[in-house]
Amino acid sequence: MEERKIETKCVQGGYTPANGEPRQIPIIQSTTFKYATSEEMGKLFDLEASGYFYSRLQNPTCDTVAAKICELEGGTAAMLTSSGQAANFFAVFNIASCGDHVISSSTIYGGTYNLFAVTMKKMGIDFTFISPDCTREELDAAFRPNTKAVFGETIANPALTVLDIEKFADAAHAHGVPLIVDNTFATPINCKPFEWGADIVTHSTTKYMDGHGSAVGGCIVDAGKFDWAAQADKFPGLCTPDESYHGVTYVERFGKEGAYITKATVQLMRDLGSVQSPQSAYLLNLGLESLHVRMERHCSNALKVAEYLESNDKVAWVEYPGLKSCKYHELAKKYMPNGTCGVVSFGIKGGREAASKFMKNLKLAAIETHVADARTCCLHPASSTHRQMNDAELKAAGVSAELVRYSCGIENAEDLIDDIDQALKNI
Ligand SMILES: *Cc1c(COP(=O)(O)O)cnc(C)c1O
Repeated sequence: MEERKIETKCVQGGYTPANGEPRQIPIIQSTTFKYATSEEMGKLFDLEASGYFYSRLQNPTCDTVAAKICELEGGTAAMLTSSGQAANFFAVFNIASCGDHVISSSTIYGGTYNLFAVTMKKMGIDFTFISPDCTREELDAAFRPNTKAVFGETIANPALTVLDIEKFADAAHAHGVPLIVDNTFATPINCKPFEWGADIVTHSTTKYMDGHGSAVGGCIVDAGKFDWAAQADKFPGLCTPDESYHGVTYVERFGKEGAYITKATVQLMRDLGSVQSPQSAYLLNLGLESLHVRMERHCSNALKVAEYLESNDKVAWVEYPGLKSCKYHELAKKYMPNGTCGVVSFGIKGGREAASKFMKNLKLAAIETHVADARTCCLHPASSTHRQMNDAELKAAGVSAELVRYSCGIENAEDLIDDIDQALKNI
């Protein structure tokens, strides 16, 4: 079939009903699936036949939606997870275990930073955090013999730094490891990290993909390009028999296109069970159907808001990769020529106190621990999502005490600007 455009994939990807089948994706609200003989079911357990047997591993509704996101990103295999946190945990833990090392951009989502620096560290995985603006030499110097992956966010939440995907991918590949990119903020509408060398893409589908604040969820997509077998000594989990799964060797049985997601499904999902519910997957799919339309509006609203903020003398600074004045504008133009995201970060003159006054004055934008929603929302990270970090860690993560993260929804831009204007005037 002819390769369709991304807008068409958003609406119709992942699901092609046959004659008389439901037009909308069915919610298969069933934990289990029936078989006539134990032999038939046995084949599923041995991964000799594909099919469903228990929704902790796979569910048809979730797989349909994963297939759509897989098409949007241009990957070969994908899986849904219960949250973005689960997606990033699985994406890394699938190829790194106790005694291993991972390099991560320092400007990442606070929850992911905590997952890496605290929780996964307790599991014996060591992380080096490096500025996304580092030179290639600095990046090369961060690798160790036990490094298993490199991680970054296309557009960092909330620092809004733009990852030089090619620089990070080239370095990762030169050292024989994959690049994992969290593409939550850009979405595949604005950036396809696989086209720039990324090997694995993750998403918090809770954000733009769902887009309506309805369901927490995550997704992992594999480009199917990383040659695990060529680095067999680094990735024994994929390249040697899995005794916990009937001795299957994932790369031999599923090739580089399917090994990574199959292992994450039958091993990590089986043991850790961070599944997305079929109901949530259904809601996620409704969001995906309009993702391309919403992203355009999110981005045009954000550019108008950012330009307004830049012109207001109560504002100390504005960070939005779509602004010409932004340090990341050139990188954004390269990787995201059609737009970046709807989130604008800015600092209000008067620091922490002025920022919280401003937040109090807002009438249209709601204060929420959320971004990337159809409704405009706003957050002061230093007193909420990032409050576990000390000042030095905040600085490294690109979050200052006066930073306000303003997530433009898809309302009318003039209404948003009027609201900001009155809130600034009344500080
Ligand atoms: C929100 C977010 C996450 C975590 O996702 P949840 O769905 O909240 O678990 C991960 N990465 C980025 C970039 C995010 O914005």
